[in-house]
Amino acid sequence: MSRILVVEDEERIASFLEKGLRANGFTTDVASDGESGFALARSGRYDLVVLDVGLPGMDGFEVLRELRREGAQVPVVMLTARDAVEDTVAGLEGGADDYVTKPFRFEELLARVRVRLRGERAPEETVLAVGAASLDLRTRRLTVDGTDADLSAREFALAEMFFRHPGQVLSREQLLSHVWGYDFDPRSNVVDVYVGYLRRKLGKERIASVRGMGYRLEKI
Ligand code: CA
Repeated sequence: MSRILVVEDEERIASFLEKGLRANGFTTDVASDGESGFALARSGRYDLVVLDVGLPGMDGFEVLRELRREGAQVPVVMLTARDAVEDTVAGLEGGADDYVTKPFRFEELLARVRVRLRGERAPEETVLAVGAASLDLRTRRLTVDGTDADLSAREFALAEMFFRHPGQVLSREQLLSHVWGYDFDPRSNVVDVYVGYLRRKLGKERIASVRGMGYRLEKI
């Protein structure tokens, strides 16, 4: 099992990351400032570090620089602000392996983490099939009873969640945090709206509403 250190001072983002990573089988620790993040990151106990740039005390770049200066090889994925392109370039030059700009979707971060983790590069399935429907992760195309349909980016992200968990009830909160990220209002009805869009392409009967709980992709 891979151990991931999350260095992030913003509590809701740290817990969003921790929850998501744990749900995907990782062990996690969180540090909420640069100094303690650095102390943990250099311990050699982690397989990967998710490192925020804006931290109290040492910032993310300083932590990264110190780690690399000591020769620590641990892969580092930086979290940077969307409008800080220069920061990002500096981060990569400073020895970051990858970066994700805030706000990000959990799936986006997870994909980067998986790529950067050594030993976790097992070839991934590229077509997820559930009953007579399939989702091609490379072309992002949905095929239902032999007919192709294109999906928007959000529809695809939502479809991917369902196809990765066929037959399971997924709650609105789960779908919202995985597809829309932490910046979304939990009272929003956006999940229901997009489930509606997806039903039009998949066939209404394939996504069942489970009253008071959420939605389920049926294996038909
Ligand atoms: Ca921060």
